[in-house]
Amino acid sequence: IIRIQDVSKRFGELTVLDKLSFDVAPGEKLALIGPSGSGKTTILRLLMTLETPTDGLVLVDGEPLFHKRQGDALVPADERHLHRMREKIGMVFQHFNLFPHKSVCENVCLAPVLTQGVKPADAKRRAMELLDMVGLSAKVDAMPAQLSGGQKQRVAIARALALSPKIMLFDEVTSALDPELVEEVLNVMHMLARETDMTMLLVTHEMGFAHDFADRVLFFDRGRIVEEGAPEEIFKNPRQERTQTFLRKVV
Ligand code: ATP
Repeated sequence: IIRIQDVSKRFGELTVLDKLSFDVAPGEKLALIGPSGSGKTTILRLLMTLETPTDGLVLVDGEPLFHKRQGDALVPADERHLHRMREKIGMVFQHFNLFPHKSVCENVCLAPVLTQGVKPADAKRRAMELLDMVGLSAKVDAMPAQLSGGQKQRVAIARALALSPKIMLFDEVTSALDPELVEEVLNVMHMLARETDMTMLLVTHEMGFAHDFADRVLFFDRGRIVEEGAPEEIFKNPRQERTQTFLRKVV
């Protein structure tokens, strides 16, 4: 469902992704791990077309997100096409980015009504279902400021799900949370991983969670994949010295 082929991303002198290639199968749950600055977040941002690669091919459902225009530079595909592509992908960020002046329910309802033309009553019904699923039916009328970090992050997950994406991207969704709030968010993500056929890409520093959540783990360093495999292989028997050193430090 996703193909990344020979993708490079440079910011000036800095090479963040270095001829990176990997595919993601429909329904796959993939964890991206690696040291800070290794390019994990940049991959998710490319898939959201928040960044444009310097070179290479990014396909979602077989369609390119970027095209070559005069010379060699890549540019995002045209807006209509991108709109269609973006609807397939939901993203949850480290910082929840909820609309502060909208209630929990409105935060979840807004995008389907505005971007997909869903009727307000239908959007509301769906929002209630989703908020129930993430354990927040009691908070539908609350304002974001009245919620804990873990609750806000669960609203952010419900909001992304409201657009019915085929692919969900999670970028260090627990790293801004107090430790005792991490688990409630991970539980929701676990449930989604088990009970839906969505394709999920997760950038995380929580190795225990990556182990339990993922079908496959990619270990990145300096914009390249150093090692990939099933969680049991990567976490119990890493083959590469670089992976071993990293895991010794973080586990
Ligand atoms: P972390 O775990 O810290 O989030 P990461 O593996 O997700 O790290 P990225 O966020 O993808 O890494 O960043 C890779 C590198 O690219 C970093 O060195 C970062 O400073 C740099 N970078 C990211 N965005 C920009 C930008 N817009 N301009 C310049 N440099 C950038």
